[in-house]
Amino acid sequence: MLVLVTGGAGFIGSTVVDRLLRELPGASVRVLDDLSTGRRANLAGADAELIVGSVTDRGTVASAMAGVDAVLHLAAIGSVPLSIDDPVRCHAVNVTGTVEVLQAAREAGAQVVFASSSAVYGTNPATPISEDEWTAPLSPYAASKLAAEAYVLAYGRSYGLPTLAFRFFNVYGPRQAADHPYAAVIPKFTDAGLRGRPLPIHGDGQQTRDFVHVDTVARILCRAVAERTGHPAPVNLAGGASISMLALVDQLSAVLPEPPRVRHEPPRAGDVRHSLADVRRLRELFPGVTQVPLADGLARTADWFRSQCVGAPR
Ligand code: NAD
Repeated sequence: MLVLVTGGAGFIGSTVVDRLLRELPGASVRVLDDLSTGRRANLAGADAELIVGSVTDRGTVASAMAGVDAVLHLAAIGSVPLSIDDPVRCHAVNVTGTVEVLQAAREAGAQVVFASSSAVYGTNPATPISEDEWTAPLSPYAASKLAAEAYVLAYGRSYGLPTLAFRFFNVYGPRQAADHPYAAVIPKFTDAGLRGRPLPIHGDGQQTRDFVHVDTVARILCRAVAERTGHPAPVNLAGGASISMLALVDQLSAVLPEPPRVRHEPPRAGDVRHSLADVRRLRELFPGVTQVPLADGLARTADWFRSQCVGAPR
């Protein structure tokens, strides 16, 4: 079996590549990545072929898809602020790039597993939120993910491809970037905590998020490929539990060398107050799937940040 992972040099993609090589006996893995945010170093030690190129380039996608049985399509512009600065580029990569991948997958007869986002729910306040709830994207990024998942599922219906569109909630773990202004909260807090800096909390800290460890995501994606799972509607991929920012700081203190200090900052416009996934569909499709508990996940994340010499000043 040959599996193509687009965006496979990124945080989630490279973790999935490692798992596919470990868990799927005899599988070969190919990565298509333009290295815009991904890093070659994430693939060090992985016996995977790397094609450096863009999902928007039809010829590159066609050669990357040759002989492929399943594609995990994770390549995207993943930043909301970048999508607000350049919505046309966001559309080109996240939507047109997805159609290019789908078209090539259709010709190869490959299964398509896609990384959509909980951002598609936008202003919908339902908690827990099920996939049948209305969507209301707040940014070009969220709109691009909604459009792309619609294409993925439409290709499934139109051409009989097994397709699966996961809506990832807040994924965290080793290899996640902490060093840019819009970094996700767990890498940002872990990095700041290990450097003895205050953890920036926007607003009162009572806002909640549903975190899922990257190894849980990799486990489920790997199983989706092994079982060639398809589903006609989107599937939430989340922990199915929520935690407030203040409670997260408490949990993090257990894995940091000294109790972290918190710095309150003004609330961010457009931030969702509460986020919690209904994960019943995920559990039906993948019965018995186990989650990495938050305490373990935070410990593994802190270990990784320590191994990256975070003691050094930045
Ligand atoms: P990431 O930035 O580490 O990974 C994205 C990868 O795609 C990078 O390796 C990047 O170089 C590559 N890429 C970008 N544009 C490309 C292009 N035109 N052609 C080929 N490769 C390209 O981010 P991540 O957190 O690993 O995200 C992976 C996927 O999961 C993305 O689609 C993202 O939108 C989605 N997602 C992530 C989260 C999360 O919490 N991290 C939540 C929801 C959805």
